[in-house]
Amino acid sequence: MTAFIMETSASARLEDADARESRATARLTVDVDAIVANWRTVVSQVPPEVRAAGVLKSDAYGCGARLVLPALAEAGCRDFFVALIDEGLAVRDLLPSGGRLFVLSGPPAGVEEAMMATGLIPSLNSVQQLQAWAAAGRRRGTPAPAAWHVDTGMTRLGLDLPELAAAACDPELLTWAPPLLLMSHLACADEPAHPQNAAQAEAFRHARTLLPEVEASLGNSAGTFLGPTFQGDLVRPGAALYGINPTPGRPSPVRPVVRLEARILQVRQIDTPRWVGYGASIRLPAGRRIATVGVGYADGYPRAAGNQGVGVLAGIRVPVIGRVSMDLITLDVSAVPEHEARPGAMIDLLGADYTVDELAAVAGTIGYEILTRLGPRCPRRVGSLPAALPGSGSSA
Ligand SMILES: *Cc1c(COP(=O)(O)O)cnc(C)c1O
Repeated sequence: MTAFIMETSASARLEDADARESRATARLTVDVDAIVANWRTVVSQVPPEVRAAGVLKSDAYGCGARLVLPALAEAGCRDFFVALIDEGLAVRDLLPSGGRLFVLSGPPAGVEEAMMATGLIPSLNSVQQLQAWAAAGRRRGTPAPAAWHVDTGMTRLGLDLPELAAAACDPELLTWAPPLLLMSHLACADEPAHPQNAAQAEAFRHARTLLPEVEASLGNSAGTFLGPTFQGDLVRPGAALYGINPTPGRPSPVRPVVRLEARILQVRQIDTPRWVGYGASIRLPAGRRIATVGVGYADGYPRAAGNQGVGVLAGIRVPVIGRVSMDLITLDVSAVPEHEARPGAMIDLLGADYTVDELAAVAGTIGYEILTRLGPRCPRRVGSLPAALPGSGSSA
């Protein structure tokens, strides 16, 4: 009996949140104040009459939509975008008064009336969606405002310009699915010199003449930083809020938001030359010290960063050595004093000194993919990120 009680209290301690964090092999910190500061930086890029929304899809790019929405609302943000109805349902109780929550993927056929009852506002992306939404509005007997999405060159979602021209003079659609917002999305805003930017801006300018009274929304993060031609009345930043550089190739105007730390599980002193990791992809000479940390591709650290990524320990950049395993990474900590590179210490894999853009670049991807895949199994907490070390760049 006594033994049973001891056992249950021990397991209760193991399940305790603090205990979980203290034994975890990895830790993810989200700096909500930095997200708000980044939103203000976006606001500083637009003229006073232009407003900035907050894009919260994919759980606010992995940062936690239920943390981010109230913080942005507090800062004055009133318009929010998610991709899916379910993402909207998960946060709509947090909307400030006067707030609007748009669903980019629009209503799947058959769910229009149920969606109207939730107060979520769809982006209507095709003639079929427009007609079904208007028909549902008519059945309910109440006009149901929505965003009308025009495709200006992305060839993904949206009405073609001729379809928009027809819809813009269709009384049935205008009455029962009145446009609250005319939106379009830029394909190449992260490449300022790309000719498609000007072509899309011109197509959008034309689209606006078809619905001149309607509020217009064009720029994503990078588009917003291209200037007023690419903004509209409401910009829709996502990436920049979460610390992804919206001006690639130039120093980042936004602050890093996410820090990933991994605990050193073991340190190996190499006495004779040895191969490291799966596939024996790299051989190290004698004299090196290798730290194994408890993060792998199952935590969202990209496998493509094997032999490429960088960690930071005691202010020193330490290279990832060998392939990334499911749960483990090995790093060469030879340059770090032994009392710092010891089991239990945490190595930064992502943060102010090694940004999401830098990790993405070595892994052959973009910061968006890194962020949205990060940390399915590590404990998260809200906190401030330490300032970058002198000389650390975040301009990838
Ligand atoms: C994701 C998305 C955004 C936000 O884009 P960022 O590049 O992350 O700023 C804006 N609009 C639409 C339609 C999107 O899908």
